[in-house]
Amino acid sequence: MIVDFDRIKGERLLRLILSLDGEKFYIVGGCVRDLLLNKSLKDIDVVVERLNRSFIKNFLLIFGVQNYSKSQFLTFKIGTSKGIFDIARARGEYYEAPGKLPRVYPVYDIVKDLKRRDFTINSMAIEFWPRTFKLIDPLGGFDDLKSRILRVNKKGSFIDDPTRAFRAIRYRHRFDFRYDKLTENEFENLNRSLPNLSFARLRNEIARVVCEEKRFLMLKEIGERGILRIWDESFNSFDVKMLEELDRILPRAEDKWFYFLIPFGLENYFKKYPYNFKVSERKILELLFKSLDLSSLSRPSGMHSVLKDAEAETVRVWGALKGVKQELLMDYLWKRDLLKNSIRFNVLVKRLGNFERARKAYNLLVRAFLDGEIEPGEEEEFLRKILSDL
Ligand code: ATP
Repeated sequence: MIVDFDRIKGERLLRLILSLDGEKFYIVGGCVRDLLLNKSLKDIDVVVERLNRSFIKNFLLIFGVQNYSKSQFLTFKIGTSKGIFDIARARGEYYEAPGKLPRVYPVYDIVKDLKRRDFTINSMAIEFWPRTFKLIDPLGGFDDLKSRILRVNKKGSFIDDPTRAFRAIRYRHRFDFRYDKLTENEFENLNRSLPNLSFARLRNEIARVVCEEKRFLMLKEIGERGILRIWDESFNSFDVKMLEELDRILPRAEDKWFYFLIPFGLENYFKKYPYNFKVSERKILELLFKSLDLSSLSRPSGMHSVLKDAEAETVRVWGALKGVKQELLMDYLWKRDLLKNSIRFNVLVKRLGNFERARKAYNLLVRAFLDGEIEPGEEEEFLRKILSDL
């Protein structure tokens, strides 16, 4: 593997910034790693040793963009039609306490900026001096990339920032790499910093994991290493079968993050800290963890009494949790969908001119429909029969 700068120059997201004149700048971190691995780029991190207004202005000009947002850690975010650019000045950082966010300060040397990063493969830069290119690789990241090794930049890395444990697990499985000895040892240090990690940062890490192709293997490693238990003792279980089931059921989307904590003992944690969750998440979790007499729910109409407002994926997770067969749930969901095209409650109220009578009739209709006593198309006939008795 050699650095193929011609290919890199041709990369869609880079072509335009090649015309930036004047300043020396670098692309850094994950985008360099992905370029060297020949993977497509989602966004680009740009670092400048001396960041001034004209650099940002030129940047906006080439992409024809008016606005940018300033974010944490001396960074500017510029969304363009080609992709997102994060522009930062080179910075160093130090940790006042294990597991807390770092304090950052400007540095004037890209190598210092690279060394503060997490893993050697994420600590490379490509220098653009306007039209010439150079790989800057102070820690041997390129060799590690070739040997498929994930290596922390320094001893004590996970003590400073325990989110790196989650990052390590993501990269290991995403790229099919192995940890070097030092990195493997870092997992032993997690009890010194992980309990200090905020809920918001943990959520963020899990949300990133659940979008990954190999999320099952990643979460399995998190479970086998007992990482969540170190974070909070309520996460004192690990049910790999449940994890497998969730992996099958749920789409790869950030907002599904909380479902994936179920196999680790989320029920205990949720009971202790319900208000850490958003209202919408809380509603779902309350439904999932409600104790129920399952014998009354064996028929689709019984399930409907509990699940009528739940989204399909919540219904399926509920089933996995309560041990209800997925075929039964699929059958219920299919019928529930058909029901949407059947007679509507408000139409029935209007038609009968009596709310209470309509409610009774509608409930009987729904029950008969869901339990398969009538087929689609037989609703009118069924109503005619029951209305005379109501
Ligand atoms: P991904 O492909 O998962 O998004 P990425 O490498 O682009 O990976 P980001 O989280 O976008 O990851 O971070 C960009 C870069 O910032 C990383 O490549 C790394 O150099 C640095 N970085 C991010 N998080 C940390 C961290 N917790 N500790 C040290 N360096 C970090």
